Amino acid sequence: MQINWIKEVEKRKQDLLEDLNTLLRIDSVRRDDLASDEAPVGPGPKEALEAFLKIGERDGFKTKNVGNLAGHIEFGQGEELMGVFGHVDVVPVGTGWDTDPFTPTIKDNRLYARGASDDKGPTVAAYYAIKMIKELGLPVNKTLRLIIGTDEESGWKCMDRYLATERKPDFGFSPDADFPIINGEKGILTLKVHKNSPVTQHATKLLSFEAGLRENMVPQDARAIVSLPVSLEEVEEALAVFVQENPVSATVRQENETFVIDVVGKASHGMAPMNGINAGTYLAVFLSQYDFRDSDNMYLSLIKDTLHGEYYGEYLGLSHNDDIMGELTMNPGVFTYKHGEKGSIWLNFRYPKGVSAEQLEEKLSLALADYQVDIEAGKSQTPHYVPADDPMVKVLLDVYEKYTGHKGSERTIGGGTYGRLLDRGVAYGAMFPHSIDTMHQANEFIDLDDLFKATAIYAEAIYELIK
Ligand code: ZN
Ligand code: ZN
Repeated sequence: MQINWIKEVEKRKQDLLEDLNTLLRIDSVRRDDLASDEAPVGPGPKEALEAFLKIGERDGFKTKNVGNLAGHIEFGQGEELMGVFGHVDVVPVGTGWDTDPFTPTIKDNRLYARGASDDKGPTVAAYYAIKMIKELGLPVNKTLRLIIGTDEESGWKCMDRYLATERKPDFGFSPDADFPIINGEKGILTLKVHKNSPVTQHATKLLSFEAGLRENMVPQDARAIVSLPVSLEEVEEALAVFVQENPVSATVRQENETFVIDVVGKASHGMAPMNGINAGTYLAVFLSQYDFRDSDNMYLSLIKDTLHGEYYGEYLGLSHNDDIMGELTMNPGVFTYKHGEKGSIWLNFRYPKGVSAEQLEEKLSLALADYQVDIEAGKSQTPHYVPADDPMVKVLLDVYEKYTGHKGSERTIGGGTYGRLLDRGVAYGAMFPHSIDTMHQANEFIDLDDLFKATAIYAEAIYELIK
């Protein structure tokens, strides 16, 4: 049967926007300070989940709330189970908005609100796709669940809880990234390097060193407090030269007997450290011209010699390239050092298949043997890859091509989407190659034409996969 999905979406545009606005009006940022047994990540995410399930009930679907952390809307019948994974939690609003982030506003055919593109808009598009298949009475022979999470932006508590009691789908996709498809996700590993710092009597001292907010972000700001046997003017001069030659800005001020030096670089996602400017490693490079000793010196030279500009971990012997999934990347995301106490560095790796977390940890400890550091493994996720010849991947790419005229091909990213929850799981839309990415930013929006086109693509793709 040939269905004109574009026309079907056309008839439901107003309803779709109304339901989406209902969800966008709910401030669903995770709030640990307001969390309870009833609302494990705070009242906002719970309210958004309930509102979505209510829409499903209104339209005659079977729904289930799983511990107020996740839920699903079910359609169809059959042994095989397809999952579509979206989320209704959002990242904090931040500053710089021109409109109220929880008052959805349409301007120039764009719908502005926190969550418009990540991920309430795309999840509602997938919902309307399923609703249209149902309303048209099309025959299907598989069961489909639209699975809604409330903690995607933080710890994935929602999916841990959901999969603890609910059946894992056999295959599926997450509408929470880009078209044409993301069928590969690198592994993620955080290693914490640390070292004790005994007190020394030397005149040149690194009293403290701090940079970075999170291991998966490139540090924008770095600060060191140092004792140096030179004048403020001399440090200012050295800093002026350094700023001339490097892509950072910097200031110094005197505080009692110490100098406080601040360096500003550029933040970026930790999965692409080459797109940022790591304030922490630049600050260590600047300081290395002074005569630091012992653990102060070791901490700074470790950063300067083994981490600065080392986006692919080459110097440490960690680089690894996979033909399909690309290069390993390394982001030194958080630095903390206190003289007489301890120094630490968090390294966030994104690695392709062909290498394991254990191997990386072993290689790193070998490479850093001279620095006498301890290495502690933190969070990790293995690489995820669904082969391009998987029948689902083929259907998704064919449908994308039909609606856009562009040939779709496989793609790997360094980030983790819900796609990795399933052996046969990928991410699929809702951003098009021409879309402006405003996820996690001020003035987040989704273009209405993109939203409606994604809805038609989801409808045809889902119908092809469950008929
Ligand atoms: Zn998302
Ligand atoms: Zn997000």
